[in-house]
Amino acid sequence: MAAIDTAIRAAAAAIALKGVSKAYDAHSVVIPPLDAELRAGEFTVVLGPSGCGKSTLLQMIAGLERVSGGAILIGGREVQDLEPKLRGCAMVFQNYALYPHMSVFDNIAYSLKVAGMPKGERIARVGAVARMLGLDELLGRKPAQLSGGQRQRVAIGRAIVREPGVLLFDEPLSNLDAQLRHDMRIELADLHRRIGATTVFVTHDQVEAMTLADRILILNKGRIEQFDTPRAIYHRPASVFVAKFIGAPPMNVLPVTGDGMTLRLADGQAVAQHADSGQFLLGIRPEDVTASAKGPLQAQLRYREDLGSHSVLAVDLAGSTLRIATPFGAELEISAKLALDFSPTRLHLFDAGTGQAIANAFGPH
Ligand code: ADP
Ligand code: MG
Repeated sequence: MAAIDTAIRAAAAAIALKGVSKAYDAHSVVIPPLDAELRAGEFTVVLGPSGCGKSTLLQMIAGLERVSGGAILIGGREVQDLEPKLRGCAMVFQNYALYPHMSVFDNIAYSLKVAGMPKGERIARVGAVARMLGLDELLGRKPAQLSGGQRQRVAIGRAIVREPGVLLFDEPLSNLDAQLRHDMRIELADLHRRIGATTVFVTHDQVEAMTLADRILILNKGRIEQFDTPRAIYHRPASVFVAKFIGAPPMNVLPVTGDGMTLRLADGQAVAQHADSGQFLLGIRPEDVTASAKGPLQAQLRYREDLGSHSVLAVDLAGSTLRIATPFGAELEISAKLALDFSPTRLHLFDAGTGQAIANAFGPH
């Protein structure tokens, strides 16, 4: 195992996207020119809603789709015109088709055989990968004799056995049930710690993004909304889009009006002090709202979901629905009057027109 660890780690390569764009036809630009630097050995999660261009971006890196413009550098070398097999990437798809008539061993060893690797070396290489993925007892089985998680691990084994410097995943966990997804997340994080390949992992699942990524690249209609660490994305979302995409339930966003001193909700209740006047969107995470007997804001409970560990309350506040995550509240009656409080240090402010965050709107925090 030590040998394969070192071999793969040595090959980890930085990926640079320079003005990379994609249009499938003249009328629809899927990805306008995009710039990003993915560091060697970094685990990047590309996160965004269905149809925003995640798979297209990954396939351009892999060489399965051509770029319409710009350059892709892997390890400092321009690869956008190279065939996929010359780029040093391995890819794991959502629908990982294993060869059904081949054993687990042969599935994993296939690319090595095609590359002409001698049999002894092949056996050693597959053995090391199988041990790393906990597949050593299963090498003689056919795919039909495996569970979903085991099959997924074979697909990963097949990708990493060639010791790629770059590992590309396209929603590899979305066909698995919730428990297995959780287990596989832990295994993938562990695998990345051990082999250290530069990893690009595409998903629409924010939990996968938050738990796996060194940095999350949030894509919206082919554009980068934010590219930063999970903590920064969560605590300092750059736009309303990011704020609403991360967190379960997501951040509350309420329209407010500023008069140069105070921000007010649609019904005139004052929520915070802010020196600019105009229309804004005020963001507050469900876990940052407190419902207390003497809070300054008046709201009414519409419904609640008791999740055991905590409740999610939905309240009417100034004509908007606000969600509150709280360990209390399971006994509240529907229609109960609630008094709410927000800590100013937990508020986010966005431009109502552009949706962009206004930094330090309530003082630095
Ligand atoms: P995601 O993976 O984020 O769901 P995709 O990259 O698959 O999104 O698709 C992005 C956009 O490009 C979508 O609007 C999709 O319909 C379009 N698209 C993807 N592949 C093709 C193709 N081969 N021809 C034309 N349009 C495509
Ligand atoms: Mg996709």
